[in-house]
Amino acid sequence: MLLRTRVAIVGAGPAGLVLANVLRQAGIDCLVVERRSRAHVENRARAGLIEHRTVEFLRAHGLAGRLLAEGAEHGSCEFRHGDGRFSVPYRELAGGRAHHVYPQQSLVRDLIAAYLADGGTLLFSHPAMAVADLDAPDGERAVLRCESPDSDPVLIECDFIAGCDGFYGAARPAVPAGRLRADVKQHEFGWLAVLAETPPATNEIIYALHRDGFAGHMLRTSSVSRFYLQCPVGDHPENWSDDRIWSALHRRLGLSDSELRPGPIIEKTVLDMRGFVAEPMRCGRLFLVGDAAHIITPAGGKGMNLAIADAAELADRLLVHYRSGNSAVLDGYSAARLPDIWHAQEFSHWLLHLLHSPVAGREDSAFLHRLQLSRLDRLRDSAAFAASFADSYAGPPARSPVR
Ligand SMILES: Cc1cc2nc3c(=O)[nH]c(=O)nc-3n(C[C@H](O)[C@H](O)[C@H](O)COP(=O)(O)OP(=O)(O)OC[C@H]3O[C@@H](n4cnc5c(N)ncnc54)[C@H](O)[C@@H]3O)c2cc1C
Repeated sequence: MLLRTRVAIVGAGPAGLVLANVLRQAGIDCLVVERRSRAHVENRARAGLIEHRTVEFLRAHGLAGRLLAEGAEHGSCEFRHGDGRFSVPYRELAGGRAHHVYPQQSLVRDLIAAYLADGGTLLFSHPAMAVADLDAPDGERAVLRCESPDSDPVLIECDFIAGCDGFYGAARPAVPAGRLRADVKQHEFGWLAVLAETPPATNEIIYALHRDGFAGHMLRTSSVSRFYLQCPVGDHPENWSDDRIWSALHRRLGLSDSELRPGPIIEKTVLDMRGFVAEPMRCGRLFLVGDAAHIITPAGGKGMNLAIADAAELADRLLVHYRSGNSAVLDGYSAARLPDIWHAQEFSHWLLHLLHSPVAGREDSAFLHRLQLSRLDRLRDSAAFAASFADSYAGPPARSPVR
């Protein structure tokens, strides 16, 4: 089967769906191919902390209805170490920029519904396999090849391909050797990410430093919470029985059984704690968007926000390109996005090293731990230090569109 469109979008995650909705609203022909089924992507639980700029962008495009109705606003987080506890009111310190807590899978569901209601084409269970003619000259087109569950492969001829297919997708590997540089940081600890059917123990996110390792209590909904536990690199979820998880959470977070009620564990995964940035985020007719171009550790809740910010930037530039015929505007996409991406990487790295127990047995472990305590003291006692934290944690102000 041969299809033709202006922009072929690979991946129906937050980046691909935001791009698809905005292009569609502007009358720019596009289509989305997604490797997985609709049920799979609509139930994949990951992020939940949505920055002010993301909410404002979605609101401006009429995509934030349910998020605003059902998501909770969140403007302060708590740090714990031993008996020491303090909160950072980051909304106040960051000029009113709060987060909304709303599960990623709910946002994905909303974005799919909005796009399909607007008449958009979304081919589920169609993995992209190959990308060709990335350097096709003016007047010619790139080609995306997908597998189809019930027919011959689908070929899509298009002006541009937006690779929104996550870190393990097909878009980035299609870039010819030597045309991307990649900077990588592999951290020396892992995180066990746990999703449990239990109401939140408090109304603030908790970051706890503990001699056994970091623990985090994140908010999701009134009946489901996400937790993180520092673990060794290469650890396996099977090493963590439910009892072991709950007892580690109670101990590290300093919460009793009655404050944090053990409930069924829905999911447990060991996350590879890695930072990765590929640049430039464009190669000819292919743009890399979101996790396809960069991944970031979950510390600070930046990944989905960056992915949506990339999609917003690319959408704006495609709009200008199609309205005015100005193709130079597309050249600016990568340079416009990279400073924000690196700022988020720096913040996530800083937060990780504030929170994590240094790897035991290292000669400098005790020294590094004293540095952590000193940083915590400054976060508690210095208004300027706390304001700088708040500015990064809340994320940048809402953006102005590219003209
Ligand atoms: C446990 C956890 C917690 C997190 N918490 C937060 C948080 O609080 N805040 C935050 O901002 N971020 C958070 N993140 C990160 C966030 O989930 C990701 O950064 C975000 O999903 C990136 O969106 P994306 O659209 O770029 O990629 P993805 O969401 O990965 O979407 C890519 C899509 O492409 C599809 N695909 C892949 N290959 C192909 C192919 N060959 N053909 C067609 N389709 C393909 C995939 O199936 C997928 O649907 C968290 C991540 C994890 C794992």
